[in-house]
Amino acid sequence: MRVVVGDTEAFDAHEVDATHPERPARSKAAREGAARLGDRIGRYPVVPATRAQVERIHHPLYVEAIAATEGAPEPVVFDEDTAAYGGTYRAALLSAGAAVGGVDAVFALADAPEATRAFALGRPPGHHAEVDRAMGYCFFNSVAIAAQHSIDAHGCKRVAIVDWDVHHGNGTQRSFEMRRDVLFVSSHQHKLFPPTGGFYKETGRGAGKGFTVNLPLPYEATDAQLLRLHQAITAPVLEDFAPDLILVSAGFDAHADDRTADQRITARGFGRLAALLCGVADRVCAGRTVFVLEGGYDRAALADSIAAVLEAALDPASFAEELPPPGATEAAIVAQLVELHGPAWPRVRGLRSSTAPAG
Ligand SMILES: [Zn+2]
Repeated sequence: MRVVVGDTEAFDAHEVDATHPERPARSKAAREGAARLGDRIGRYPVVPATRAQVERIHHPLYVEAIAATEGAPEPVVFDEDTAAYGGTYRAALLSAGAAVGGVDAVFALADAPEATRAFALGRPPGHHAEVDRAMGYCFFNSVAIAAQHSIDAHGCKRVAIVDWDVHHGNGTQRSFEMRRDVLFVSSHQHKLFPPTGGFYKETGRGAGKGFTVNLPLPYEATDAQLLRLHQAITAPVLEDFAPDLILVSAGFDAHADDRTADQRITARGFGRLAALLCGVADRVCAGRTVFVLEGGYDRAALADSIAAVLEAALDPASFAEELPPPGATEAAIVAQLVELHGPAWPRVRGLRSSTAPAG
């Protein structure tokens, strides 16, 4: 197994107000986490995404509005927590380019006979950015741009995006909710941000009905609760969908030490979730998995979690652990999700008898 990381200090061009949680120190922490793997992991070059790649997801006038902030002496405010500074446009193109480069890396089989996984360590994050709207610290939706690139440049017929950031990936969902070639699965703290979406009954629209899966988490969800939802729902949906590539919106703000949210996930928990997804990727798409950094604002937790995910990408088996039996509430949630997603996904449908509540 070959694992490569995309990183550059040029992400720091997105310099923000010193009090903002999404600041350059995050990149330093991410870098430190990756450095713990030493020479067991490789590198791929990070170049900016092209305007054409970005405009496959975002409206050209919106891209132009972000481009116009280049070199701005004062921050240009897009929403209450999202402002572009002089170097933001450059950094956002690089962050999207890191995701695109990760996709290219896992398809570069000519010089990598082994299955490859990649981790794009870019910032700013992207999953809240909508077609014509910056929000939630995000400008360009890197994971969505990478998914579209895998279709355009590598001929992918089906791409899956799993978003485990503690916030709902509203931008990604909006980009693909009408499509059936890009599956979107998101686990997130219920009603955290944005509070207006990510409900479990949102399952896609029109031709995309069934191809959006939302897994809202309760307050203080544990590793076992997070893993069980992904094991019960995400894994069988992915096996049925059989994507050519799995992209992961890897945010680490569900970590117990991250004060952005109210979850209790550990670094090892993120590693176990990464191992679950890599295991599916090994079965359905020659292992091809690209992790794209989203949130994660506690620096020590970010470094530990990124190191754990990279370890899991190298050796998923080392993260295999039995889950404790589910509590009654948890079993009821899974049963409800099985009922909802069973009609679209045979492997989920097959779980019906085993998850049906007694009586
Ligand atoms: Zn987040």
